[in-house]
Amino acid sequence: MEQTKIILDENEMPRQWYNVLADLSSPLDPPLDPRTMEPISPEALEPIFAKELIKQEMSGERYIDIPEEVLDVYRLWRPSPLFRAHRLEKLLKTPAKIYYKYEGVSPAGSHKTNTSIAQAYYNMKEGTERITTETGAGQWGSALSLACNYFDIECKVYMVRSSYYQKPYRKSLMTLWGGNVVPSPSQDTEFGKKILAEQPDTPGSLGIAISEAVEDAAAHENTKYALGSVLNHVVLHQTVIGSECKKQLEMVETYPDIVIGCCGGGSNLGGIGLEFIKDRLEGKHNARVIAVEPSACPTLTKGDYRYDFGDTAEMTPLLKMYTLGHKHTPPAIHAGGLRYHGDSPIISKLCAEGLLEAVSYDQYAVFDAAVQFARTEAIVPAPESSHAIRCAIDEALKCKQTGEEKTILFNLSGHGHFDMGSYDKYFSGELS
Ligand SMILES: *Cc1c(COP(=O)(O)O)cnc(C)c1O
Repeated sequence: MEQTKIILDENEMPRQWYNVLADLSSPLDPPLDPRTMEPISPEALEPIFAKELIKQEMSGERYIDIPEEVLDVYRLWRPSPLFRAHRLEKLLKTPAKIYYKYEGVSPAGSHKTNTSIAQAYYNMKEGTERITTETGAGQWGSALSLACNYFDIECKVYMVRSSYYQKPYRKSLMTLWGGNVVPSPSQDTEFGKKILAEQPDTPGSLGIAISEAVEDAAAHENTKYALGSVLNHVVLHQTVIGSECKKQLEMVETYPDIVIGCCGGGSNLGGIGLEFIKDRLEGKHNARVIAVEPSACPTLTKGDYRYDFGDTAEMTPLLKMYTLGHKHTPPAIHAGGLRYHGDSPIISKLCAEGLLEAVSYDQYAVFDAAVQFARTEAIVPAPESSHAIRCAIDEALKCKQTGEEKTILFNLSGHGHFDMGSYDKYFSGELS
């Protein structure tokens, strides 16, 4: 059997993040101030974000150094392993080679620590004492609670109400790492109170939780806000995934034909995919990059590419992105991390330019794939990540029909140890 687990040495960990903004064919359409419809100035973002993060958001530098203190924390779980899915390939009887990068080895269980550590670090450097944020399924809230704990910052998490009750142990984990968690909409903000008065039974949404977290940050001294996806600097921090992956694939003398990531706000997809899109832009290789989203929240596949707000209360700048509309409340599917009305402006532009494809699947098809994966590769995948697995399996099955020996790479963005309730529902036929 060829190698199963491809591991990099600690000292081979990337020391820079890759900024795709340096390589795009034309600049991204800038974020706009909704009051003037002019591009927003960096100063206008300073009440909400750390200065260094605003700088990274707008930077044209191709590579940005990862600070030593951030690398020190990354070393707790990075470099993450790349696996060859021998057993899954055998089950599918496919001639394709399937590789997956496993980000579930991080202490919070997903890729989100790659950016939470960086964001907390820059905030600490600039004297931030408290950070507010939203969380969908709870992965981002956990990742940020952990990061704030390391850098001595208070962390307040607005957790989408449907997930707060579906995933109580995510809340426990955040509390363990020192985070303060409330279900959103909450009584702690004006916007939360307003929504609760109008729709007492709302399941909540990421858009609402973002509004609450932004309102809180703007209203309190020495408090900043942190976002777990969508923004350029978040996608930037995730590129450690793809940089490691490329080296690992070189170790087995392979290059992927297809690169797959699930897509909620686009950060783990950008993380694994941008390094390969760079090669495409340079004319060196031609890997297809595929975004996989839930058919219940089909942003890239059914949304419009236009300016829209990032939140429900219209407090954020306008971003040019694929969107289902900022008033949209997606149904309470189990892949809570993929329930966002918009998408990263970087991923959106690449999609609009045809450098990236998008597909969608419904929950049942996704859980079918998750179970096949767990029974062959043993890892219990997060429902979000299982979207990528579904697509990888389908691409491998196509290879079976055509006899092509393609190399398929996907990002296993996190584990599903906090999602066992969703698996139970799948087995008892109760998934909607
Ligand atoms: C948050 C999350 C996602 C979705 O976020 P992206 O920014 O689209 O990557 C996917 N998988 C897991 C495990 C997550 O925690």
